[in-house]
Amino acid sequence: MQTLIEVYEHDKERILNELMTFLRFPSVSSEEKHRDDMLACSAWLEEYLQAIGMHVERWKSSQHPIVFASHLEAGPDKPTLLLYNHYDVQPVDPLDLWKTPPFEPTIREGNVYARGASDNKGQCFYAIQAIKMLLQRDGTLPINLKMVIDGGEEVGSSGLAEILASKKEQLRADYLAVLDVGILKPDIPAVTLGTRGLITLTLEVQGPSSDLHSGSHGGLVNNPLHALTTMLAMLHTPEGKVAIPGFYDDVADLSSQERQQLDFSFDTEAYRSEFGVLPYGGEKGVPPLERAWIYPTLEINGIMGGYGGSGFKTVIPAKATAKISCRLVPQQDPHRTELLVKKFLEANVPEGITATITSHPGIGKAMRTSPSSKIVQAASQAYEEVFGSPCHYILEGGSIPIVPELAQTSSSEAVLMGMTLPGDNAHAPNERFSLNRFKQGLAVITRIIDLLGTTSKF
Ligand SMILES: [Zn+2]
Repeated sequence: MQTLIEVYEHDKERILNELMTFLRFPSVSSEEKHRDDMLACSAWLEEYLQAIGMHVERWKSSQHPIVFASHLEAGPDKPTLLLYNHYDVQPVDPLDLWKTPPFEPTIREGNVYARGASDNKGQCFYAIQAIKMLLQRDGTLPINLKMVIDGGEEVGSSGLAEILASKKEQLRADYLAVLDVGILKPDIPAVTLGTRGLITLTLEVQGPSSDLHSGSHGGLVNNPLHALTTMLAMLHTPEGKVAIPGFYDDVADLSSQERQQLDFSFDTEAYRSEFGVLPYGGEKGVPPLERAWIYPTLEINGIMGGYGGSGFKTVIPAKATAKISCRLVPQQDPHRTELLVKKFLEANVPEGITATITSHPGIGKAMRTSPSSKIVQAASQAYEEVFGSPCHYILEGGSIPIVPELAQTSSSEAVLMGMTLPGDNAHAPNERFSLNRFKQGLAVITRIIDLLGTTSKF
């Protein structure tokens, strides 16, 4: 370990220059104008991974290319680890809030600032450097290694999802490490044992065929905005639970062992100072992180309708719309939940109103890994050695919809890990990544590969 860090320090300038090159590609997957930049970025990755000695393919999809690299010389009795990263990034607006341009990476006070610095190019590149250093040191790897670098994570990974089945054999692995999350604090490492699933819906209610005068028609027609808000208000009980019958049917409680292993500690004051609000959402009487990790939610993400401009307009709008999402927990089937929500809303449409409910792609199940799995054990040992501090186990309230599908297709046990912190401004202006955490990430990955290499497969 020491010698690898020495090698890193020796090569640091070259490594950071290459990271800068990676960060300079404006690989914004959601914007058509960046289609060629996505191609160029994936081509650069392909060439880089080939040069370090990996076998590389670029997989076409209806979205952007997916880079797949492998090094499979350890033999069939050694485990296979599949790493997941992504090279696409979020859009950069509002651009005027960036202190330095998002695609001109700049180092300030030990951090590199650029779009993608932490999500996810920084995390992708320390993993690549770890593989490169091990290959330089030993000429080979102690395990079979595969790496899938997605080009569509920020747009729901539908490109990867549609080709997954056809790549089943190539993706097959014992373990899947998704390097797209973070640690608890700069000095407290953590392994993420699961994510919540996701469904998203648009509810549109229609009343009259066009907007109406609220004087002439007020009291006559059912106002679509009233209908919408009435329907939305029915979705929760006064205690903060989701009121849809059957919504909680498949929600499994945690075992007492799981409950003990997870770190549910929550600093209310720190939350208030960071977000300007106290954590009063969800079901009353349930601790904050249980509400965010182990129970499902239904949130209204947007309401559109009527007049919102300056001054006043006495109008009864023809229609109104709401955006609704649910975060799901293990055992909850996204399709069943979607049906329950639709049925409930349809049963509560007021007279004179028609409702249309559309579901969106990007639907995903929740995922959960046991802390006793070998990959979790290897990851936490690696973190503990690198940080000199015990590794915590946490869950993620958010969703990475491709992860459960990728774990299933590759027949692997999945774990989520990484080196980011909330202050890294992922998806926001002035995204950054600390160079120290870049180095620690590299050390953790090399250690995990070494540790898995000392175990035979069975
Ligand atoms: Zn990401």
